[in-house]
Formats: sequence, structure tokens, C-alpha cells
Amino acid sequence: MNFLKKEQAHFIVENFDTPVYVYSEEKLEKAADDFLAFPSAFWHKVRYAMKANANINILKIFRNKWLKVDCSSEFEAFRALNAWFEPKEIQISGQETPHDLEKLLDLWVFIVATSLEQIKAIWKIKKWIKIWVRINPGMWSWAFKAISTWGETSAFGIWHEYIPDIKKVADKYDLRITKIHIHIWSENTPESWTNSANIWLEFVRQFDDATTLDMWWGFKMAIMPYEKTADLQAIWKSVAQKFEDFYKETGRKIKLEVEPGKYLVINSCCVVAKVNSIIDTWKDWYKFIRANTWMTEMPRVAMYWVQQPITIINDSKEKEDYVVVGHCCESGDVLTTKLYDQEIIETVSLNKASIWDIIVFDGTWAYNASMSMKNYNSFPEAWELLIGDSWEIVEIRKRQKLKDIWKNEIEVI
Ligand SMILES: *Cc1c(COP(=O)(O)O)cnc(C)c1O
Repeated sequence: MNFLKKEQAHFIVENFDTPVYVYSEEKLEKAADDFLAFPSAFWHKVRYAMKANANINILKIFRNKWLKVDCSSEFEAFRALNAWFEPKEIQISGQETPHDLEKLLDLWVFIVATSLEQIKAIWKIKKWIKIWVRINPGMWSWAFKAISTWGETSAFGIWHEYIPDIKKVADKYDLRITKIHIHIWSENTPESWTNSANIWLEFVRQFDDATTLDMWWGFKMAIMPYEKTADLQAIWKSVAQKFEDFYKETGRKIKLEVEPGKYLVINSCCVVAKVNSIIDTWKDWYKFIRANTWMTEMPRVAMYWVQQPITIINDSKEKEDYVVVGHCCESGDVLTTKLYDQEIIETVSLNKASIWDIIVFDGTWAYNASMSMKNYNSFPEAWELLIGDSWEIVEIRKRQKLKDIWKNEIEVI
């Protein structure tokens, strides 16, 4: 297992109803340190993309490391304020124009405009001089079209060919565009980062007042044994070189901001659950483990058909091939599909399991507790636990009470 010890798993199932999310404070801090330590040309700022996991304790661990935050909605911004971030440390780069724009601007929360209309809306309220904009850089997208965050099939940011229009709006309202924000994919190599830095600095060049490039291309992070984590240092060195070159050519020292979400939490979390039943489709076909978790706690797997390491905790010396499924009456509640292909069921070799054995899902990281298909089939929201630096296990979110699932319903019949 990634960080959980067998004894801790036993302690957890004895004291809490499963499933349970478990985080490691040490791992979270280490991930933040990795980011703070990388080489940059002039200056860099790290923003935690808090949609990855928004529990107040996770936010505070990162705030204590002096990370800033990137929010995907005004509600996340208010949640960050509640976790003691200063307004000026918060940026909203969401798709939706905040309804409370005026209040947020009054507080001095920063907004990244993701459409021309948003630039005007910000100006109208505050007559703000400094505006940040998100650009869709175009570029060929190899991701699934429907999930791409850039390119012609994506509504994220202002398409790069509209840059003359952004400048027209800026001139008309006497605004200065000081930060260019570009976010694309999440798994990459040093070469792809340097290529992007080149293209994106060309966008910066077109804005005379731009002092910061907020670029995010993510990194390949290994979760499964067949994957390899990108070399952070190599990536950042090559990016820093591009910023140096740009400075030599133009005399402009551009500051760098990065916005990791997934990377900061990816391998710092696991889900501890139990084998609820074991069934098969006759001896020639498949043997299934039905776990008492899945899309309710780990929806991202169901959405994107990724794979996660699975461990059965028992003393069995025998292995068996299983298809692992969840507890929802829903067709996507299967873990062991082929990578990115829901049509092909695969098996995994695990310790021969019995009912009520502990089953641990590692790399359950980001976009799970924060994204969960909460209350589907009326399963309550799961516990969240934190293993602290001194190895104590503390609750950081309680399991939801059954009646809280329907407490907002209004009975009119
Ligand atoms: C989600 C998001 C991120 C984080 O992406 P990861 O792939 O989790 O690292 C960064 N920036 C913005 C604007 C985002 O929406």
C-alpha cells in the first residue's frame, strides 16, 4: 500500500463505518514542498486548485505551506476564506461569472476573466484597472474531445484568435491585462511543457502590461505500477530557460504561477472499505468482488475509466483473479475496466478474498471526496480521516447521518 499500514487499516475498520477516506498529512506536505522547491527563472507562486479536495484541513495544511488557491467557483472562494486564506491569496478562474461579483471584488478576491463579457462585467462594477484573462491556446488536443480543457472543442477561456478583441476592450475601458492564464491537460513531459511555454510566452508578448504567466499543464503522476512520474525538476528547468530567453530578448521578467490540483493530493489518499460479497458468472466466466464503496466515493474512476491499485488485507497466500465492482445499482460502478475503455472488463490478481476482508484503494487522491456522487442510492457521505505527522488518526469529516440526506426536502404531499 502507498502509505497506510496494515495495523492502521485494522484500527480504522474497528472504529469507523466503512468506507472511509484516509489522508496522510506527511504526504500532503511533501507534495507541497516539491512544488515550492522547483527552479524558476525569476519568481514563482503555487496555487492549490482546491476543487481537487476542499476539506478545510487540507486547505489549512497547504495554507500553512504558504500556498495560494485557485477556485473554480465563487462558492469555493468563500470556502477558502473560511479556511483563513486572505482574499488577495484567492483567485477565481471558473466558468461561471460569480453572482456575488461585487462582494468578491470588494473583498479583493481576484477574478480571472474567462470570456470577453466577464472582462466588461468586472470593469463595470469596479472599474478595475488590472484584469487577468484566461486564454484558450488552441493547439491540437489529443484528449477525449468531450473532456478537453483546450482546443476547438473546449469552452474554457477566450479563444486565442480573439486576442485583438481583448485588447480592443482593454483599450476602450483603459484596462491593463496583467496576467495571462492558460490551463490545458494534466499529464505531460518536459518537451511538451517547453513547447507550450514557447507558444504561451508569445501570447504574453502581445500584452505589453502582462507581468505574470499562470500556466498549468499538469504532470504525469504514477498511480499504477506501469506508470512513471514526470521529472519535475527537468520540466521546471526547461521552462525556466524559456522565461530567461524571453527576458534576454524582450527585457521583460515574467513571473510564473502554477496551479497543481491532482499532483498535490494524488498519492496522499486512500479509501478503506470492505469486501461485501463475492459472486461469479459461472466457473468459465468472472469472479466478482463487490466492495461497499465505489462510484459514491471514487466517481472519477467511473467517469474516466482509470485504474487504481487495490489491496486485500488478509493472510492468504493464494491469489485469485477478480473483477472489482462497487455497491451502486448503476452500470458504471466497475473498477477493473481496461484503461480508458469501459467496454472491456479486465481482472486483477488479488489475495484470495473472503467476505468482510478489508479492501484498500490507493491513489484515490483528488476529485473524489470533493466530486463524489454523494447520496446516490442514498449511501451516506463517507468519513474523512487524517493520519497526522505524529501518526495519530483524527476525524476531519464525520460520516453523514441518514436523516441529513433528506433534511432539505420539503414534504408537500
Ligand atoms: C482543475 C484546475 C487545475 C488543476 O488541475 P490538475 O489536473 O488537478 O492539476 C488548475 N487550474 C485550473 C484553472 C483548474 O480548473
